[in-house]
Amino acid sequence: MICGLLGEKLGHSYSPMIHSYFGDYEYNLYERSADQLAKFFATTKFRGINVTMPFKKAVIPYCTRLSASAEKLGSVNTIVRQTNGDLVGHNTDYFGFLSMLKKSGFQAAGKKALVLGSGGAGITAAAVLDELGADAVIISRSGDNNYQNLDKHHDAALIVNATPVGMYPNNGASPINLDPFLHLECVLDLIYNPARTKLLLDAEARGIACQNGLWMLISQARQAAELFMGEPIGEQLVADIYQKLSSQCENMVLIGMPGAGKSTIGKLLAQKLNKPFIDTDAQIEALANKSIAEIFSQDGEEMFRALESQVLADLCKCSGHVIATGGGCITKAENFTYLHQNSKIYWLQRDSEKIPLEGRPLFKKYSIDELYEARFPLYRQFADCVVLNDGTPEEAVEKIISLEVTT
Ligand code: NAP
Repeated sequence: MICGLLGEKLGHSYSPMIHSYFGDYEYNLYERSADQLAKFFATTKFRGINVTMPFKKAVIPYCTRLSASAEKLGSVNTIVRQTNGDLVGHNTDYFGFLSMLKKSGFQAAGKKALVLGSGGAGITAAAVLDELGADAVIISRSGDNNYQNLDKHHDAALIVNATPVGMYPNNGASPINLDPFLHLECVLDLIYNPARTKLLLDAEARGIACQNGLWMLISQARQAAELFMGEPIGEQLVADIYQKLSSQCENMVLIGMPGAGKSTIGKLLAQKLNKPFIDTDAQIEALANKSIAEIFSQDGEEMFRALESQVLADLCKCSGHVIATGGGCITKAENFTYLHQNSKIYWLQRDSEKIPLEGRPLFKKYSIDELYEARFPLYRQFADCVVLNDGTPEEAVEKIISLEVTT
C-alpha cells in the first residue's frame, strides 16, 4: 500500500516516522509546487495521502467528494482512494485538535478562547471550540479582531496559536504578549518544533497550563492511518508514539561545574544512544577562531559569555542531540530559554576534590568553592534532573539513560 505526504516543503516532517508506527505501508514524501499538482494527481498511484501547507484548499478540486468536516471547514488534509478510483477528501485536523484539547484538560464550554491565525488550522481549532460551547474568536492580522484591538479580549481563558510564528527556524518569536491576559487557564500552540515555543515558555513561566502541537499531529495522523487501512487504532498507540517521538526529538543537555565530566560523559552518551554530539566550547572556539583560554585572556569573560549565548541561541534549535555546555552557561538567564526550548537538562555533579583545575581559566580567578557557591542555585534553577558523577564515566552514562526511562 502506497501512502505519503503532499506539500511544498517537507524537509523536517515527522509524518514518515509517525506513520511507520501506525502501519506497515510505504509512506513517501511528495514535495511539489502548486503548478505540479495536476500532474501529481494524474500520475501518482497512492492509496492515501496527507496534505500539508500550502495545499489544503488547493487539492479540493482534485477530490471526487469531501467528508462532512472537510466540506464544512473548506480544508482537506487527507485524501483516500476508494476501490472504484474515487478520491475522498477528509479533514483529520479536526479530530487532532479535539484530541489535543481533551488532553490539555481545558473545559471550553462558556469560556472565551482566542485563536491566533485565520488559516486552515485556525478555522479548524475555532470550529472545534465552537462545537464545545466556547466563545471562539479568531485573531487575524487583517480581520475585525486583530492584534491592534486585543484589549477587547483580555478576559480570554484560552489562547491557541495557529500561526507559524515561533516555528523552527524562527525560534524565539511570539505572536502575542501574554502579560495583559490575567484570566488565562491554558495556552496551546499547534507548533511542535521547537517543543516549547516562546509563547509556551512565557505561559510556563506564569504557571499557566500549556501544550505543544505534537499530540495533535499524532492524533490527526492516527485518524488518517485508520482511513488508509480501514481499521481502528487505539489511543494507547498515540500515547506510545508521543512518548517515543518526544524523547527522540529532545536534546540531552549536560550542565555542571568545569571539570564535572560533561564533555567525556556527553561523548559516551551520544555514542551509546547513537545521537550526534555537540560541545559548546568547541563551537565557541570555532566562532571566535581562538581557544577558550585566549578568549578569556585577550577579550575577557564578558565577551566569552556573549559568544556563548550566541552559540546557544543557534545550536539549541536542533533536535535529538547530546549537548555538553560550558560550566558558566547558567550565569545568563537568557541561556535557559535557549536550552529549555527543546531539551532535558541534566546537572552533572562531581566531588570538588575530583575536579581537575588544570587549563580552566576561571580557576585562576576564583577558588572552586567560591565558584560552586555562586553557581549552585543557578544550576538548580536550570536543571530538570541531577546525576552524580561519582564513579566511572560509563556509570554516569548508565545513570542518565535510566533517568531517561523513568522521568
Ligand atoms: P496557514 O493556512 O498558512 O495559516 C496560517 C495563518 O497564520 C495565516 O492565515 C495568517 O493568518 C497567520 N500568519 C501567517 N504568518 C503570520 C505572521 N508572520 N504573523 C502573524 N500571523 C501570521 O497554515 P495552517 O495550516 O493553518 O497552519 C498554521 C500553524 O499550525 C503552522 O505552524 C502549522 O505547522 C501548525 N499546524 C499544526 C498541526 C498539528 O497537527 N500540530 C496541524 C496543522 C497546522 P492571518 O492572515 O489571519 O493573520
